Amino acid sequence: MQIATDAVRSISRRYVALARAALGMDMAWLTEHAEAMQTVQAVDGAAEQFGVAEGDATPLESSYCARVLDGRLPGTIPDVRANPVASALSVTERFGIGSYAGTPVQLPGGRVYGMLCGFGRGPQPSLSDSDLRVLEALAGAMGEEIAEHLADVEAHDLVRTRLERAARGDGMRIVVQPIVATDGSRTIGLEALARFDCPPPRPDEWFADAARYGMGTDLELGAIEASLALLPDVPSETYLSLNVSPSTLCHAALRAMLADVARERIVVELTEHASVADYGTLLGHIDALRADGVRLAVDDAGAGYASFRHILALRPDVVKFDRALVTGIDADPVREALVGALVTLGEGIGATVVAEGVETEGERAALRVLGVHAVQGYLVGRPAPLARPIRQR
Ligand code: C2E
Ligand code: CA
Ligand code: CA
Repeated sequence: MQIATDAVRSISRRYVALARAALGMDMAWLTEHAEAMQTVQAVDGAAEQFGVAEGDATPLESSYCARVLDGRLPGTIPDVRANPVASALSVTERFGIGSYAGTPVQLPGGRVYGMLCGFGRGPQPSLSDSDLRVLEALAGAMGEEIAEHLADVEAHDLVRTRLERAARGDGMRIVVQPIVATDGSRTIGLEALARFDCPPPRPDEWFADAARYGMGTDLELGAIEASLALLPDVPSETYLSLNVSPSTLCHAALRAMLADVARERIVVELTEHASVADYGTLLGHIDALRADGVRLAVDDAGAGYASFRHILALRPDVVKFDRALVTGIDADPVREALVGALVTLGEGIGATVVAEGVETEGERAALRVLGVHAVQGYLVGRPAPLARPIRQR
């Protein structure tokens, strides 16, 4: 199997240049061995004089490399004419090889990746064992670097495969957490939160990984699709709240997914953590969703750098305060003042004001005094699978 990638090629080129400089030879190369062939992966020096180019593939059996590997040739040949095995090889004449040094590049576990070699047009009497030691050291370091890169590629492939599976709903499920009127009188909404079967353990790490791999929207849409499937079992007076990033909010697939559901029962939560590059475009998409009846929440308000600007620009229907503002609010006048200001702003634009991460009665009492409409947090309900109502036949 050929495993050369652009990254492996650039690692190879670096070491091949070092090898040629260290040996003082006319040309150096790295070959990759696979299925009885050797392919030139990187060359440095007078390659055209030898008639060699990257990508050339020749049978291993006709090569110096095969003979060094099985011991028929030594690692250094200062004068090829003086070596009967080397001088008898057709490649000696074809490429005009006068001197040679070569050593295998091994991957961990001993697998031979290929050979790092130097070639001279004429004899090079100074070529010695110490040159070979240098070449071996370079080959060892190159083997480690290539192996590290291949391990990275493998790890990335694994993450990508998991993300693709999860985006299809395989290995992902949805739990819901209630959003309850601050006086405890009723549940106004349920926030849908994704849970995954395998590591990483935290869902936000999954979404961050997905964004890094360019699959953020796929995974978010996968979660939304799975969440919407719960809607028929959500009590009719309760809204379903979905998390979206700005780029998913602007994706045509979101509107299409929402086309067939009761959109007036949907709230989309846009995190304040994500910076918004272009409010104009975002607002255009928000307006379209709103025209369909969907409501907008600003999530994690107070956690970002531009809460007031964000809220003023987006005019959300719901403002959700971040847990960082809520924890210990009953004993912290500064948090109280900040939440008070955000409540005033929220009310000024006619938004429902929700506090997240409420864990104690003290916090709830303080939030109630400040005029917060609803609370979400362990105090009133942990995220859990949606209880399905028993339907009459
Ligand atoms: P978030 O949207 O701010 O969700 C609220 C998080 O706070 C949830 O963590 C929830 O379990 C947690 N939480 C709720 N009440 C309390 C509390 O009283 N105390 C504490 N300490 N924590 C509380 P979770 O489910 O781990 O989700 C973390 C983040 O991952 C979410 O933050 C959201 O950014 C992201 N996420 C989760 N599910 C989805 C999803 O389906 N789609 C998208 N796009 N993002 C999601
Ligand atoms: Ca949220
Ligand atoms: Ca939040």
